[in-house]
Amino acid sequence: MKEYALSLDRYPAYIYDLAGLESHIKSIRAALGSTELFYAAKANPDAEILRTIAPHVDGVEVSSGGELTHVRETLPRTRIAFGGPGKTTQELSLALHADRIHVESPSELTRLAAQGFANILLRANLPLSTPDAALTMSGPFGMDEDTLNECAYLLTDNPQLTLRGIHAHLASGLDAPTMLDLADQITEWALPWLKAQGVNNPELNVGGGMAVDYTSPGTRFDWHAYGAGLGLIPAKVRIEPGRAITAYHGWYVTDVLDVKTTRGETYVILRGGTHHLRTPVTKGHDQPFEALTTNGPGSPATLVGQLCTPKDVFARNVLVPPLIPGDVIAFTMAGAYAWNISHHDFLMHPKPAFHYIR
Ligand SMILES: *Cc1c(COP(=O)(O)O)cnc(C)c1O
Repeated sequence: MKEYALSLDRYPAYIYDLAGLESHIKSIRAALGSTELFYAAKANPDAEILRTIAPHVDGVEVSSGGELTHVRETLPRTRIAFGGPGKTTQELSLALHADRIHVESPSELTRLAAQGFANILLRANLPLSTPDAALTMSGPFGMDEDTLNECAYLLTDNPQLTLRGIHAHLASGLDAPTMLDLADQITEWALPWLKAQGVNNPELNVGGGMAVDYTSPGTRFDWHAYGAGLGLIPAKVRIEPGRAITAYHGWYVTDVLDVKTTRGETYVILRGGTHHLRTPVTKGHDQPFEALTTNGPGSPATLVGQLCTPKDVFARNVLVPPLIPGDVIAFTMAGAYAWNISHHDFLMHPKPAFHYIR
């Protein structure tokens, strides 16, 4: 990665390590046993990334008509699960031939039924405890028990919809033991409920949200423990991670434009900015990085971009080696929720180049 990054003739650039990504997804697949693995496209829908992952997953989860169309074009034979709040009627009709549709409300169910035949999971919003979550998906996502019962009642009048199971994506940023505990709590509620609705071979999609620790780039989610635990659940279990699949294999590489000290604070100003890599701003962390052209004793500095806003910070008060204009910095862990969630057009700077290592 380093030699490749230094050989580029223009910064900023994204580099995706497709070879590394492929071995990562293979090891996840191997750890999961009989559990089905769908990739959540919203983490990074880059076509090369989708093509790298596709042979090693059971399908792709999409959350909009745009993602649905993109994934179908990129991977015509891949199974698709379609979820997300606020689906339009047009999106529901596009999604009719998806392998599974995750229904979010009774009115969505009624609109879907009017479109034709579909296999559905009902998205549940269960009052389960998720003490350490980075993000809990309560609020508008899914349905409480009363509303799920209302859907079950509506289904009796709409035989064109086949209820296959329950979907629950309840939290993100959790480690394997906590996620397993959550999956067990979901199972305990969902299996009797599905049995009461007469569902045979029930399916449980327990979502994504596996922890990615940006303060510890070498740490990985314990897929073996998770796969072993999920294997004990007496149902067809499916998961749909995004971040923990692609985060580790993207770099945002750029060069130093200026170094200055203002009121005692040292700032390293980099070409580009958080309009290309919004992850540290949205997550409120320091993006991990490597200085590629220099080493030496570290001193504190704040790494910023070219945007005219004090929010354009990649990493605040971190130790950096002595840097001068022209030095090259690589932000690591930039493969998920990075380029595709960023506000690209702000200030009209040039877009980064994209490179793929195979
Ligand atoms: C975002 C999302 C995912 C993926 O979450 P990660 O944190 O990227 O693993 C999976 N399922 C649903 C419903 C989501 O909204």
